[in-house]
Amino acid sequence: LKPKIAVFDFTSCEGCELQIVNLERDLLAILGAIEIVNFREAISDRGEDYDIAIIEGSASSPECIVRLNKIRRQAKVVFTIGSCASIGGLNSMRNTMDFEDVRTEVYGDNKYYYDSLPKNLPISSVIPVDLALTECPVNRTELVEAIKAVLQGKAPPVPTYSVCVECKMNGNECMWDRGMGCLGPVIRGGCGALCPSKGIYCIGCRGLKPGANIEAMKATMAEKGLPADEIARKLGFFCTSQEESS
Ligand code: SF4
Ligand code: SF4
Ligand code: SF4
Repeated sequence: LKPKIAVFDFTSCEGCELQIVNLERDLLAILGAIEIVNFREAISDRGEDYDIAIIEGSASSPECIVRLNKIRRQAKVVFTIGSCASIGGLNSMRNTMDFEDVRTEVYGDNKYYYDSLPKNLPISSVIPVDLALTECPVNRTELVEAIKAVLQGKAPPVPTYSVCVECKMNGNECMWDRGMGCLGPVIRGGCGALCPSKGIYCIGCRGLKPGANIEAMKATMAEKGLPADEIARKLGFFCTSQEESS
């Protein structure tokens, strides 16, 4: 019997789900081993009998909490894909702003029709999560390896080193030496130092690495002349929820 998989979206841009669709040949191979029973972006079936739930997006409303608890009761394995789901991601930027101002900005006079949580939450703050893949959007290679590992009942390797490790291995000139503030030292590697390798500083889409020394990073950025609000903005782009819980 093939394991049944359901893909669910919460507060997101749906770019991570698109990464699943974009797996193309890999997806066809995976489809030989699984049955997708619920995936709004790709199929019309809405099966409620599944073994593995893949979740994209963060929790931002009371309705999300109810849905997530229902999913957790059903699924044997829950894994989150992308930074919104796994660490709160971009959506958590609103946690640093005035809640009423944000609601007014988004919904205007209709804001009382929409029930929002006062804070945006990563999925693991609501229900236990078995595996969390970050990056915006989720990394396709990592996603395939994770699906294969889950099907084999194993834990896939998730890097714990920083972006700097792969950046150095690629022989890149450091962005800091080019006058650009790069978050690489505190961000989880695994993307192959994608941005610095293209001449762009890392904005932290894979989230803080385990044991990241944020205070040292802030002090270094200040030493290099970055104003306090710029430092907060850079770290807050993807890592607000992680900073809140550290
Ligand atoms: S992690 Fe990025 S690509 Fe994925 S849903 Fe969030 S914003 Fe979209
Ligand atoms: S460019 Fe960024 S990722 Fe690369 S070594 Fe410098 S700080 Fe680290
Ligand atoms: S270099 Fe940084 S921003 Fe770019 S993909 Fe990697 S983690 Fe994300």
